[in-house]
Amino acid sequence: LHDPADNVVRLPDGGPRRREPVPDLSIATLGPARITSPMVPLLDSRQTTEHYVDEQDRVLLDDTVAGISSRGGPLHELPGMEPCGPRRKIFFDPSKTRAGIVTCGGLCPGLNDVIAGLVRTLTYHYRVRRVVGFRNGYQGFIADYGYDVVELTPERVRDIAVDGGTVLGTSRGPQDPEEIVDCLERMHLNVLFVVGGDGSMRGAMQIARVVAERGLLISVVGIPKTIDNDIPYIDQSFGFQTAFGLASDAIRAAQVEAKSTANGIGLVKLMGRHSGFIACYAALARSGADVVLIPEVPFALEGEGGLLAHLRRRVAERGHAVVVVAEGAGQELLERQAGADASGNAKLSDIGPYLRQRIDEYFAEAGVETSIRYIDPSYAIRSVPANPYDSVYCVRLSQAAVHAAMSGRTEMVVGRWRRRFVHIPMSLAVSRRNQVDPHGDLWMAVLESTGQPVRFG
Ligand code: ATP
Ligand code: MG
Repeated sequence: LHDPADNVVRLPDGGPRRREPVPDLSIATLGPARITSPMVPLLDSRQTTEHYVDEQDRVLLDDTVAGISSRGGPLHELPGMEPCGPRRKIFFDPSKTRAGIVTCGGLCPGLNDVIAGLVRTLTYHYRVRRVVGFRNGYQGFIADYGYDVVELTPERVRDIAVDGGTVLGTSRGPQDPEEIVDCLERMHLNVLFVVGGDGSMRGAMQIARVVAERGLLISVVGIPKTIDNDIPYIDQSFGFQTAFGLASDAIRAAQVEAKSTANGIGLVKLMGRHSGFIACYAALARSGADVVLIPEVPFALEGEGGLLAHLRRRVAERGHAVVVVAEGAGQELLERQAGADASGNAKLSDIGPYLRQRIDEYFAEAGVETSIRYIDPSYAIRSVPANPYDSVYCVRLSQAAVHAAMSGRTEMVVGRWRRRFVHIPMSLAVSRRNQVDPHGDLWMAVLESTGQPVRFG
């Protein structure tokens, strides 16, 4: 029988329990916002009241009873995050504001959409007169590289989102934050937008630190880029949907190839250094994968419960099999790669060719003829333009970033949390990695879809 009382949420009494710590969600500002936003006359006066974000409003950190009660705090003090959006009062006088944009780290679909969105919002909504782009990541600030800045206008960025990549270029490798801030000072910039991954945000925090040490009033706002979707406190990162859509095409190709030969095996290596979201979503988008391997779930190759025996059984049952492996999976099986890239990110050992070889050897030993089709689509995926969903997302993130910066907020990133756009302190965004929970519903959905065991070995 249906009992309406079941739909009433009874929150447990707050007590001394505090299992999940409450992160510091407060956002730094350069000072009080005293200037009336120029959006006021731009918008119909009757609508503006609803359009502006109330400075006191918050998006709740937790949206389930279990989540709320796990914090253990008093129920009238729920932790919340600042909502994104235009403020009625802003910090910078738009007519005297100069803004800069830089893109750093690896490519990701949507970078050009973000650049275009920033330029349009700064120019059309706030009437900011000068927006410049720095070339090739943080190198663009350093005089020795000799890169000119790019003047960014709505005309200049009109069609850039048609192409993938970033019109500003990007780079890895450390640059001196003191020199970067020298450049910001020389150019009289008030606002800097950093579009990049965790490394870029660490760099942006150093820039913000030097800015504060010098007593400057320059806002540093990040638009976090991660194709792997590994930034915490963000539901999904921009470019992720585009990426897993194309990744699922690669799975389809592998399946078609595997099916067209006797005992064929398709092996697809996807992005995901530390987090297997792309592999999980791509596999769920196509039912063709027989096995998904992600960094969060270690696996064994040998033995009856191992991956190889499982594949052998699948091939015997179905005539073919498809394996999807995230690049960071199975690192424990491989010899550690020495070295790091220019930014200090540890090099991963290549799991793809290793798995291919081990599968080949195993089937040969078992006397089963097979042919393995190995597909590694990462670069083809990173460089494409964003799909319409991600383009919309990028535009909204960039608008949110401009509103935050103009209001004087700094050392923060924009993101979407529980489907609402929010401000997140930069330090929190780099504090840990978002990973697939091996006990969570996403991984369970993958297991259900592939029929693979909970663990190999
Ligand atoms: P991706 O997700 O593609 O790795 P990323 O932003 O993490 O993106 P990195 O190459 O790690 O890419 O870093 C980009 C820029 O940020 C580089 O110029 C790098 O020197 C700088 N950077 C990286 N890590 C740090 C750090 N810990 N402190 C300061 N700057 C950093
Ligand atoms: Mg990184």
